[in-house]
Amino acid sequence: MRQRPVAVDTKDVLRELRVKSGLSQDELAEKVFVTRQAVSRWENGETVPNTEALKLLSKLFDVSINTLLGSPRRLVCQCCGMPLEDAMIGRDKDGALNEDYCKWCYADGTYTYGDMDELIDVCIPHMVKEGFTEEQARSYMKQMLPNLDYWKRHDELSDNGEFEAFKKKLIEEINALGIKGMPRVESLNALVGSYINLEYTLESGMRVKFLNDGTTYLGNQLENELDGNRCFGIAANADFILVCTYGRDGAEPELVAYKKRQY
Ligand SMILES: [Zn+2]
Repeated sequence: MRQRPVAVDTKDVLRELRVKSGLSQDELAEKVFVTRQAVSRWENGETVPNTEALKLLSKLFDVSINTLLGSPRRLVCQCCGMPLEDAMIGRDKDGALNEDYCKWCYADGTYTYGDMDELIDVCIPHMVKEGFTEEQARSYMKQMLPNLDYWKRHDELSDNGEFEAFKKKLIEEINALGIKGMPRVESLNALVGSYINLEYTLESGMRVKFLNDGTTYLGNQLENELDGNRCFGIAANADFILVCTYGRDGAEPELVAYKKRQY
């Protein structure tokens, strides 16, 4: 895991972000509806932006408010417990960062895990790679998760199983495609587009991608019962289901099915 930067001051963070974006103090002031003098005072450390300005700056620079304030808080996803860096933070429907969750647990305003055991099953393989035994990982997660805000407030935050029902329906639709060599899909996980956005080569030689890097999809990777060298990959959302096969690390992807969903 990358080391958190040492604590820095808001004034330095703001100046650095502004300079990196190529904005003058005047231009930044205009974008966040303050005077150039206000920006200058922030950067001198005389004042800090008020909460409204912080929100606008967070949106403008695409960094968390926590980062703008010099990282005083160690952000942890309140659903899975993962330490958060800005690039991993989940987003509300309007695209604003939600500093309580990672983008795998909270995507575009939707909580992706309604069931603690399902989340544990997804996390365990990652922890085993980091050197835990499966038993250690499971017992750690079982102790840690109930202390996180999301699981404490689960009843209040849950959508009465609506999202779970949607996942179940998607799974049924994917299995109904009857794709040769593909095992039955049992579960779908949240996957961020940029990790699974493979580039396909069409017959014409044109290369295309079908996903958005910034969108979170539901998907999974399954073995290919007919070809041990290739895997099945699934990516789906409310609009479509995409099934492909690929070799090691996503090499030579081939589209198997792309189906628009009916509502
Ligand atoms: Zn999380």
